[in-house]
Amino acid sequence: MDILLKNIQLIQEPTNPILEKVSIAVENGMISEISNSPSKRLLPDPDYLIEGKKLIALPPPINSHTHLPMTLLRGISDDKPLLEWLKDIWRVENKLTESLIELGTKLACLEMIQSGTGGVADNYFYQNIIGKVIHESGIRGWLGAALLPSKYVNQGGLEFQEEIFKKLLKLVKTSPLLTASIAPHSPFTVDEETILHAVELAIKEEIPIMIHASETREEVLKSEDKYGIPPIERLSRIGFFNEKPKAILAHCTWITQREVHILGENKVIIAWCPVSSQKLAYGGVTPVPELRSAGAYVSLGTDGTASNNTLDIWREMREATNVISADRWDPSIYSASNVLEDTCWTFRNVFKPNTFIKEGNVADISVLNFYTPHLIPVHNVISNIVYAANGSDCHSLIVNGQILMHNRQTLTLNQEKILEEVEERTSELN
Ligand SMILES: [Zn+2]
Repeated sequence: MDILLKNIQLIQEPTNPILEKVSIAVENGMISEISNSPSKRLLPDPDYLIEGKKLIALPPPINSHTHLPMTLLRGISDDKPLLEWLKDIWRVENKLTESLIELGTKLACLEMIQSGTGGVADNYFYQNIIGKVIHESGIRGWLGAALLPSKYVNQGGLEFQEEIFKKLLKLVKTSPLLTASIAPHSPFTVDEETILHAVELAIKEEIPIMIHASETREEVLKSEDKYGIPPIERLSRIGFFNEKPKAILAHCTWITQREVHILGENKVIIAWCPVSSQKLAYGGVTPVPELRSAGAYVSLGTDGTASNNTLDIWREMREATNVISADRWDPSIYSASNVLEDTCWTFRNVFKPNTFIKEGNVADISVLNFYTPHLIPVHNVISNIVYAANGSDCHSLIVNGQILMHNRQTLTLNQEKILEEVEERTSELN
């Protein structure tokens, strides 16, 4: 498949000036040429042409924390405190069959492709099924096989969930888009032995480990009561970081300065989810500026659609910088270019550094269309992206050299069929 992007604007690095009138040739999955010389004739007969000076190309965002099948739970429980909300959610999650998980993931992939998202770190049950759908959709997936005891959600229990993880290990070998991961739910729902077993598996298989940590103040206070220390310090004390696993910690909303240092020293990836935290009224705000200075990798996630209620990572960016500004009384402490870097560059830099928009790299490119009333005028491209754009402004999406959406048309999934099936089957959850 040959793709030509012609006469577009390119954000190659978040801190460099935007390049104008650029053409990018994608041949056999790779970026064969990037040129801003209009006289050059690149790919005279491409399969797909993406052209226009109001189009902005950049590395596709990666949603670094979510629970994809929960798209089916969008709007099922709102405006309730966490524990009441969780009761609603766990009651419905008990009813999620394999085929509903597949359907919810299809809906999620459709939503992500149409908002120009190029990859996702997911944390859920049945990653063997979720992984297949992600592979078909064409985006990248870091698949966290959930470990959560049946007393919370009846999804087979820990032994069964480890069997799913083994299936996942086989599946990822068949796709260049997929990476396996193991995901014990959190330090307060999963016992120490299981958490350390998951770390061992991550080290042995050379894969990332995902875990929720310090999401709510209540969880932190309980940890302090029971163990005398907050959750991340406890993880450190039990040896979670000893072998230096590639760890993706979701939320880290209520953490101490000492924990910031632990996360920085261990080069942890922090997948924080500002919309979900605000919606569920956690009160805390992830100390993003301190985490960045301590050396942790900060990345953005939407969390599941039951607590967001969308997978639109562009809207999440605006919330991210605004909530930090409001919390710190300082609009410059976490700028638009900082959050754009954390969303489109940071996670990718850790796991797929060969997919930035450079000649010779695998082609992963998201294209935004600025020819729309809410994105004009353009005093500052990055400001418009972070503060004014939303997912529907994505024009095209290329991942691993394959075009997944072209001029708003999704090419890998059948939208009509998926939407129809979701409407038909939603009643199964009531
Ligand atoms: Zn989560």
